[in-house]
Amino acid sequence: MKNRLATKVAAAVFLFTGVATAAELAVTESFSIWLVLSVAAVAAAAAHVATHHLVVRRLELARDTLRQIRRHQFDNLSEANLGRGDELNDLIRQVYRTGQVLESEFEELNSMENYRREFIGNVSHELKTPIFAIRGFAETLMNGALDDTKVSRAFVEKIVRNSDRLANLAKDLSEISKLATGEQRIAAEPFDLRRLSADVVESLESIAAAKSITLTRQVPGTTAPVMGDAPRIRQVLVNLVDNAIKYTNDGGHITVSATPGDGGGVLIFVEDDGIGIAPEDLPRLTERFFRVDKSRSRTAGGTGLGLSIVKHILAAHNEVLRVESRVGQGSRFGFHLPTATAAEMGAA
Ligand code: ADP
Repeated sequence: MKNRLATKVAAAVFLFTGVATAAELAVTESFSIWLVLSVAAVAAAAAHVATHHLVVRRLELARDTLRQIRRHQFDNLSEANLGRGDELNDLIRQVYRTGQVLESEFEELNSMENYRREFIGNVSHELKTPIFAIRGFAETLMNGALDDTKVSRAFVEKIVRNSDRLANLAKDLSEISKLATGEQRIAAEPFDLRRLSADVVESLESIAAAKSITLTRQVPGTTAPVMGDAPRIRQVLVNLVDNAIKYTNDGGHITVSATPGDGGGVLIFVEDDGIGIAPEDLPRLTERFFRVDKSRSRTAGGTGLGLSIVKHILAAHNEVLRVESRVGQGSRFGFHLPTATAAEMGAA
């Protein structure tokens, strides 16, 4: 069974040699039939050995490799040291490479599946917390607290705060899924960073003022127009300033600034003198749903998605988020944007 190919080749050689010799015999009638058959048998045996050596062993190797691939035993796959210039060796190499490609695709699918499972778990947890809180407050009101004006007002305020959390979560989730799937395209155009930063500071000033935080802006009038998707960069700045407000204690200071970058372009920073971040937490900041202090983030209306959205927007601009921080002293988040060229300004 094992050497079927070699046996077939040997039989063919045997038959061919026999027919050829019989024909010759018919012409010469000088050889013994037994001698002819012996020569044919030796030739067939030699052909069997040669075929087995040259073909069958390599076919077995290809079959074993395919079997391992079928059983997902990628760890056992090892590339045989086969010479070039032979179709069978090329075929075996292709089988081996197919195994390698499948292995990496399986790994990617597995990690996506794990990621999806974790993401859904996180989302459902994030949804449950405010929903249960709203239900709890509403039930307490229904069971009699409605009659106490002071208590009922406090509870209704909590219901509103938790509904805001749900609304923030829905907004951030839709934003992040659009960014991750590439549905949200980046349209880079020249824009005035000074105007955009003034707009952001103005929109968040009242929230900072409620915590007696001083929010200042240092963007020189000489700052050249930059290239980027203005509404998305606005969102980056809003998220960074909003975080700075959330994680800075009352009476703190926040500065939004812009300076020329070393290699050209503009560096934009949002700096605070807030609670700061420990070095071991810095690498995880842009992970979805990662928070250093969960309860502080939730109380402040955080979703744990703000910096992840920032990372995605900057990545779509081919830029990265830079973070420097010291616990108890404050944090500085920054990113780079290229300045618009004369041609880009003309096209705009
Ligand atoms: P959140 O909605 O919780 O603020 P983010 O993704 O915006 O989520 O930020 C992730 C975490 O990073 C926050 O929960 C907080 O622990 C930390 N963080 C972000 N910005 C600052 C900051 N300016 N100062 C201190 N910690 C910060």
